[in-house]
Amino acid sequence: MSFRALIGHRQTVDRLMRAIARGSLPPTLLFTGAPGIGKWHTAVATAQAVNCLDDDARAAGDACGTCRSCDRVARGMHVDVLPIAPDDKASIKIDVIRDVLARTSYRPFEGRRRVVLIRDAETLELSAQNALLKSLEEPPDATMFVLVTSVPGALLPTVRSRTMRVRFAPLTVDEVTQVLERDHGHDAGPARAAAALADGSVGQALGLADADVVALRDAALRLLSEVAVRTDAPARVQAGDALLTMAGGGKKERSRDELGVVLRCAAALLRDLEAINAGVDRRVLAHPSLEPTLAALASRFGGDRARSAFASVDRALYALERNAGSKVVTEWLALNL
Ligand SMILES: [Zn+2]
Repeated sequence: MSFRALIGHRQTVDRLMRAIARGSLPPTLLFTGAPGIGKWHTAVATAQAVNCLDDDARAAGDACGTCRSCDRVARGMHVDVLPIAPDDKASIKIDVIRDVLARTSYRPFEGRRRVVLIRDAETLELSAQNALLKSLEEPPDATMFVLVTSVPGALLPTVRSRTMRVRFAPLTVDEVTQVLERDHGHDAGPARAAAALADGSVGQALGLADADVVALRDAALRLLSEVAVRTDAPARVQAGDALLTMAGGGKKERSRDELGVVLRCAAALLRDLEAINAGVDRRVLAHPSLEPTLAALASRFGGDRARSAFASVDRALYALERNAGSKVVTEWLALNL
């Protein structure tokens, strides 16, 4: 994937492109940021850009994404681009690093730059990190290293100090939605519902792929709409109990995981209600398609109510994750929103 085709991280990617176009990209880079936000895709795009065969793309510091070299990098088949990932024990051993370093001791075969890409670099064993130090300090001719990690603190300070740090921020809800639609074939509605819960991470949004997030979000919205107008305890308890079963035929019980998603949806909706009450630009809402409904509901959650409801949802999630009974949790929540 070329830099142009990446969704999000515009400033970071522009900086990388300018450095590549000028030929001033440092040979040792450390990409950091939360899991599932596109660091690895950017690392692969970097390897493509420095080896692309298309003159125009190269002049812009980008990859064309389609030439023989770009294609091979994308398929992990480029002889000079060496991707390393943790083994099935979730670690990268010194043997793997020694082997790669041996291959960096001569000039690239067909590319202009040899690029060593290290995924989940925090899983490098200490001996492997030590073995890397000298090469990071003085990279072999025409060789560059890109270490990718969400836990930079797990790397030796000596490794960190020898690399140039490139920080990646979480994606926006819009950007996660775009990635789900374009790269994973999700429909717009479910993509946005999942993105609203994903903390800016495509990886997290994909983790919700099996859940019918739209239905779970609607259940959360029904709860908030009910408690907004009901003050009597029996009605609220009933609204809480309604979360335990699916709407429609069969009254099938919801799993604890599904209930967890309902609660996270409630939290995301409450954040939107607070945003509406604070008068922020409606375009930043996580659920723009629900704006009319949320706008009508917002006045019921004025003052500190949205925030304290948010805290209650958080407590309920905490209890649910620690195996409190589903019914106890949902009823308590309905009484405390
Ligand atoms: Zn190319």
